[in-house]
Amino acid sequence: MSNEQSTPTPDAKASRLPPGMVLGPDGKPCKICTSFRSWKPPKGGASLAASAASIATASAPSHYAYPPPENDPRPAHCPPDVAAVGNATWTFLHTTAAYYPERPTPNQRANMLALLHSLPVLYPCSHCAADLGEQIRASPPDVSGRAALSAWLCRRHNEVNRKLGKQEFDCTNVDERWRDGPEDGSCD
Ligand SMILES: Cc1cc2nc3c(=O)[nH]c(=O)nc-3n(C[C@H](O)[C@H](O)[C@H](O)COP(=O)(O)OP(=O)(O)OC[C@H]3O[C@@H](n4cnc5c(N)ncnc54)[C@H](O)[C@@H]3O)c2cc1C
Repeated sequence: MSNEQSTPTPDAKASRLPPGMVLGPDGKPCKICTSFRSWKPPKGGASLAASAASIATASAPSHYAYPPPENDPRPAHCPPDVAAVGNATWTFLHTTAAYYPERPTPNQRANMLALLHSLPVLYPCSHCAADLGEQIRASPPDVSGRAALSAWLCRRHNEVNRKLGKQEFDCTNVDERWRDGPEDGSCD
């Protein structure tokens, strides 16, 4: 993981943050990098910044640690946390790959490459973006066709799943999950 920009630094302060709480480049909590499903604010309604200061003595979890699938405890109108923006992004990317042409034109390939290469630059969770950038450098996107792109994306998602300690997805099921739905017709 890179420590550029708002990526949490491995210094003592950052390493004592609780699961999901991540610092930005200004040394303050980065909301979009934080999982509110795992983070419990101190009693008394303190702000995120005050809360971060108050947890300086907490144990030293990885900010990649993913909590049990509990609901974000905040109201639905709140800005997304790292999990919500991640889920929405994966939904967009897998669905876009699922409907990508089997034989894309050069223009479609170029635009898909531009979309994927933009993510490490623009994705708002900075440590997620940095990791994705490393993934893309190690395994450049295969935009040659729908099946290849879907499989490439599935592997990238599985790398994140592994990092978070989640179960890997069986990539033979990407079309069922993102385009066709199950054979039992329950999604038709
Ligand atoms: C580029 C990127 C990097 C990220 N990095 C981090 C990070 O460093 N730290 C962090 O806490 N969060 C990160 N996230 C968010 C994280 O991946 C999840 O989106 C988030 O934890 C919410 O998980 P979820 O349970 O809603 O399911 P998600 O992982 O969002 O998956 C949504 C659905 O996709 C399907 N799915 C799962 N795996 C695959 C696969 N391999 N191929 C196809 N479909 C699949 C499943 O049906 C699942 O329900 C990142 C997200 C993105 C887009």
